[in-house]
Amino acid sequence: MLQFFLFRIFIVILEAMQQIKNYINGALTEPLSKTYLDNFNPSTGKVYSVIPDSDEKDVELAYSAAKAAFKDWSVTSKEKRSAYLLKIAALIEKNLDKLALAESIDNGKPLKLAKTVDIPRAAANFHFYGTGILHYASHAHSMEETAINYTLRQPVGVAGCISPWNLPLYLFSWKIAPALAAGCTVVAKPSEITPMTAFLLSEICIEAGLPAGVLNIVHGLGPKVGNAIVSHKDIPLISFTGGTSTGKSIASIAAPMFKKLSLELGGKNPNIIFADCDYDKMLATTLNSSFANQGQICLCGSRIFVERKIYDKFKTDFITKTKELIVGDPLNEKTKVGAIVSKQHQQKILSYIELAKQEGGKIVCGGKQLNLTNAFSEGYFIEPTIIEGLPYNCRTNQEEIFGPVVTITPFDTEEEALMMANSTVYGLASIVWTQNLTRAHKIANSLHAGIVWINCWLLRDLRTPFGGVKASGVGREGGFEALDFFTEPKNVCIKL
Ligand code: NAD
Repeated sequence: MLQFFLFRIFIVILEAMQQIKNYINGALTEPLSKTYLDNFNPSTGKVYSVIPDSDEKDVELAYSAAKAAFKDWSVTSKEKRSAYLLKIAALIEKNLDKLALAESIDNGKPLKLAKTVDIPRAAANFHFYGTGILHYASHAHSMEETAINYTLRQPVGVAGCISPWNLPLYLFSWKIAPALAAGCTVVAKPSEITPMTAFLLSEICIEAGLPAGVLNIVHGLGPKVGNAIVSHKDIPLISFTGGTSTGKSIASIAAPMFKKLSLELGGKNPNIIFADCDYDKMLATTLNSSFANQGQICLCGSRIFVERKIYDKFKTDFITKTKELIVGDPLNEKTKVGAIVSKQHQQKILSYIELAKQEGGKIVCGGKQLNLTNAFSEGYFIEPTIIEGLPYNCRTNQEEIFGPVVTITPFDTEEEALMMANSTVYGLASIVWTQNLTRAHKIANSLHAGIVWINCWLLRDLRTPFGGVKASGVGREGGFEALDFFTEPKNVCIKL
């Protein structure tokens, strides 16, 4: 009881109107304009903090700091850079409870998810690249007795890193950690919708003693701060994760400036279920891959294709399990589905449910805004929703909804499942459920996707390449691929 009381007091303190600051040249600073934007708690619909409404002048300050810091940081030994990253990882771990609570309040995701996935993964990102850089080696090519070539991998310079709201600290750190490990300095922008844990990371970097200017975090709107980073003439590299249309606009600015670009964009991932699957494992995982984080994970399987032989059974069981999911207060341990990240996004998801009805879809579960009571009466909730009866090529089945909404569609043959799976402009991830190994290999080989999960979902080894094909992006993050991205190869040829 006392513990519960203390926990609630902690929440009240955290929710007391906080002023988030930029982190520039090692200090927490106000935006030059001195203006701020409201930051909402999606589960209550109330403003609970404000964030800097920064602009290109703040980005310029951040760039100057990063440029000055690059001189030392780019030649700091790998061991020293590693030590800073490991210290940051340790501080994230030490502050797990505080960061998880902040993430849950800021984003609407269940606290349990933030505590077990988001924040541990952010620490893991720093840990992974803090140790990974020690094992990063370049190539040498011998021309027998004529010459020897060796390749230097030099940090590119000041990196621009821009991240989205769905996995705030997790994805922010997924860019920043490899950039810093590789010897780049960084100007970073978290999403204006979920800025809190990036702000807390600034405090952690100060505590870790990270040299001034090595990491700079500028808060604010995409078209102002993001655009200023992307179009900055002296920032040679952009690592972006977000929507496909934003990625397209970024590419149109950055490509003619010949910047190095990594674009991790949207998805409309298929989940293909064959009758010979391990049914219970498939059902439990499919529930997760459909509705975890309110369906707001770029890797969620939003189009579920089920072999006709088990379609009716699957539909009945899936609906039953989905109805059991507890939707509500993200801070309640039992909650499985929290709040949608913003009012605007909630309206977008609801409009897609309406579209699905107009396209002939039948809502077999959920389908409505959920109006809770008391503190949550103005929160942004949506019932987990299952829709059937839609053609594979209608808009609902082709466009990214990014919410707790899935469609279910029967298929008869492997070829038909593949054709439907590959029919969208996207190609990020895919999920396949079968016990037939030959079929699993065959399907994995033919899917248009950067990632294929067979009999699992979201099982991540940080060494593997992460990213998508087609409109889901350009380039890969993860493992040494990210260190390759943040460094420039230079071949040196010595005639013997
Ligand atoms: P978004 O594109 O609206 O915003 C992403 C970031 O870009 C934010 O920080 C935003 O402020 C900034 N931004 C917006 N306009 C900009 C501009 N003109 N110039 C520069 N920066 C700009 O995306 P979102 O709504 O925050 O995130 C959801 C999307 O992200 C979904 O489409 C989802 O699939 C995608 N996503 C992809 C991955 C992946 O790894 N492929 C991971 C997570 C999310």
